[in-house]
Amino acid sequence: MTSLESEISTNFTQQQKPGVTVWFTGLSGAGKTTITRALEQELHSRGCKVEILDGDIVRENLTKGLGFSREDRDENIRRIGFVSQLLTRNHVIVLVSAISPYTVIRDEVRQRIGNFIEVYVNAPLNVCEKRDVKGLYKRARAGEIKNFTGIDDPYEPPTNPEVECRTDLETLEESVSKVITTLEELGYLRKSGSD
Ligand code: ADP
Repeated sequence: MTSLESEISTNFTQQQKPGVTVWFTGLSGAGKTTITRALEQELHSRGCKVEILDGDIVRENLTKGLGFSREDRDENIRRIGFVSQLLTRNHVIVLVSAISPYTVIRDEVRQRIGNFIEVYVNAPLNVCEKRDVKGLYKRARAGEIKNFTGIDDPYEPPTNPEVECRTDLETLEESVSKVITTLEELGYLRKSGSD
């Protein structure tokens, strides 16, 4: 088989798979964006159709104008969930990266989408705060940002996620591999190397 035939074959077979939303939840700085970007590369290399919906980017367009009250946070998640649902039913693997601190709304989008994998990106608050990737924890501690998750706003951890990534204890590669294995086991992704 030529490489072009091989690529066409991979794409054809992968597209027979159902779509799925892989929903990454966790504190700011826990590693959601880092993992979804690495995962996207791996999935592209396997010929998958992938879209990332990243909370920070979504808040600049789809949910622009929403704040951080409980109501606005829920509306943010509901809109992301709606787009994810459309993409999922069109055989896309959707990677959502959003703090999504509240259990009830996460469960609501899970029910609505159906093909749904929850990934708890778990690093202790003190680790996230030490990383302080965007300098937001410092500003929240200084009182410059209000309602900051983990500081003066709650985070409700998932009770039964399909995957948990302890980014303070495992490597990025290990986290990506856990998600890939779960996608394979649940039938959303062809096992690497299988026909
Ligand atoms: P979030 O999207 O959850 O706010 P980011 O992905 O933006 O978090 O930031 C996480 C930070 O933690 C990055 O600087 C990343 O390099 C670092 N990090 C250290 N170890 C890991 C790991 N095992 N997995 C993911 N990120 C890690």
